Amino acid sequence: MGIPAHREAELLAQVPTGLLIDGEWRDAAGGATFDVEDPSTGKVLLSIADASTEDGALAMDAAAAAQESWARTAPRERGEILRRAFELVTERAEDFALLMTLEMGKPLAESRGEVTYGAEFLRWFSEEAVRVSGRYSTSPDGKSRLLVTKKPVGPCLLITPWNFPLAMATRKIAPAVAAGCTMVLKPAKLTPLTSQLFAAVMMEAGLPAGVLNVVSTTLAGDVTGPILKDPRLRKVSFTGSTAVGQGLIRDAAHNVLRTSMELGGNAPFLVFADAHLDKAVDGAMAAKLRNMGEACTAANRFIVQDTVADEFAERFAARVGAMTTGRGTEDETKVGPLIDAKSRDKVHSLVTDALDGGARALVGGAPEEGPGYFYQPTVLKDVAPDARILKEEIFGPVAPIVTFSTEDEAVALANNTEFGLVSYVFTSDLNRGLRIGEKLESGMLGLNAGVVSNAAAPFGGVKQSGLGREGGAEGIEEYLYTQYTGIADPYAG
Ligand code: NAD
Repeated sequence: MGIPAHREAELLAQVPTGLLIDGEWRDAAGGATFDVEDPSTGKVLLSIADASTEDGALAMDAAAAAQESWARTAPRERGEILRRAFELVTERAEDFALLMTLEMGKPLAESRGEVTYGAEFLRWFSEEAVRVSGRYSTSPDGKSRLLVTKKPVGPCLLITPWNFPLAMATRKIAPAVAAGCTMVLKPAKLTPLTSQLFAAVMMEAGLPAGVLNVVSTTLAGDVTGPILKDPRLRKVSFTGSTAVGQGLIRDAAHNVLRTSMELGGNAPFLVFADAHLDKAVDGAMAAKLRNMGEACTAANRFIVQDTVADEFAERFAARVGAMTTGRGTEDETKVGPLIDAKSRDKVHSLVTDALDGGARALVGGAPEEGPGYFYQPTVLKDVAPDARILKEEIFGPVAPIVTFSTEDEAVALANNTEFGLVSYVFTSDLNRGLRIGEKLESGMLGLNAGVVSNAAAPFGGVKQSGLGREGGAEGIEEYLYTQYTGIADPYAG
């Protein structure tokens, strides 16, 4: 069973293959194209336009030209466009889910979950668009009035990763639209097709020409570098690796741009002896295997109290070992391929390093035969404290387990990283959960929960996991600046 080949072909035929610039789908200057692959087979799905520096400049021109009139549109009008986009994505949920599975590899059930999550940003920000407010107050000495208003920051450059092709785009585009900003979107070259189709939906929903421009490209730096230097750009919002984010922060210094940075993670997953172990294992499955472990929020280190470590590891390994790998379009698939050969080889080098350092593989521990870039779901026990796998982002279906004996030791291990995106804590003692939460250096905390992502919540990290928040009431603030007007005393005559 699974999805018939003709259905895949029909869907791919609906994906725009050009660059979206000023409301029109165009070929790249010089006609360059690049291939997008299915990571479960290595076969080409579609060839699309490959933007050059020149195309990036045209996209920037279009965003700059549209900014003034777009900022003046009524908030309700912008909200209604987002609401229509939410309805269109929801109507086409199966198309978006299949497209993500084809280009990214995740099982269809997970892609459907991402459609729900990604579409929710459109609905959430359709509601936030009309809730931007300011204040009017009297100065402390009574001699003037203070008027505080919020305005759109202006044209934005949005750069997204390949691991959540729809949600990472809607999490940026929806608040930018709600705030009244225009934008240039540069999707990841490994998974641009979802953004291409989504941009077509935004146009169908009534977004005016030039507000959203999409420049898919294999030449990321060549396209984004000059845009970052353009004095008309006001903001860059990036989701991706910390190394690339650091470079973009340096580039953003040139024009002192507003920056939002959603970067890498190294999430600790703490299990205390008083935790409900079945719930902890359920949480571990979600926090580790969702998206094949290719999530910034993926649990990267399982830190388990020594008295329950063996039992937790056995139950977890039994569940992980039962996960079927395969093409995401097949009904029985629970774990899809990794995104490419490089990612699979990196995961294996981390596992090999841990095994060489004395770790034991309770299940898995090796890549799978091709075609496609599959890695066996793996649980490692007795991982040495200096193993690379505890320091680097794994981005694969591999769970290393280490143990602790005291609460202080658990917190010290959890915080022993330059990252600080999310932490997970499993305990039946709510006071302990809250106490540990106060001590953990992370932007988000899952308390007896293996998934924290929610459009209504502020998503983001501290330390080298990033700057700014996406979603929640905070999300739109990233696209607004505060303007203050000092007004003379109206009684002074
Ligand atoms: P990546 O940094 O390689 O690429 C991200 C995006 O940046 C892509 O669009 C890529 O083409 C672009 N890019 C790469 N080099 C560039 C350059 N020099 N100039 C401009 N753009 C450039 O990351 P990835 O492999 O696509 O994604 C995985 C990473 O993203 C992981 O580290 C993961 O933790 C992180 N991530 C973070 C969050 C979050 O919200 N914190 C969410 C998802 C993914």
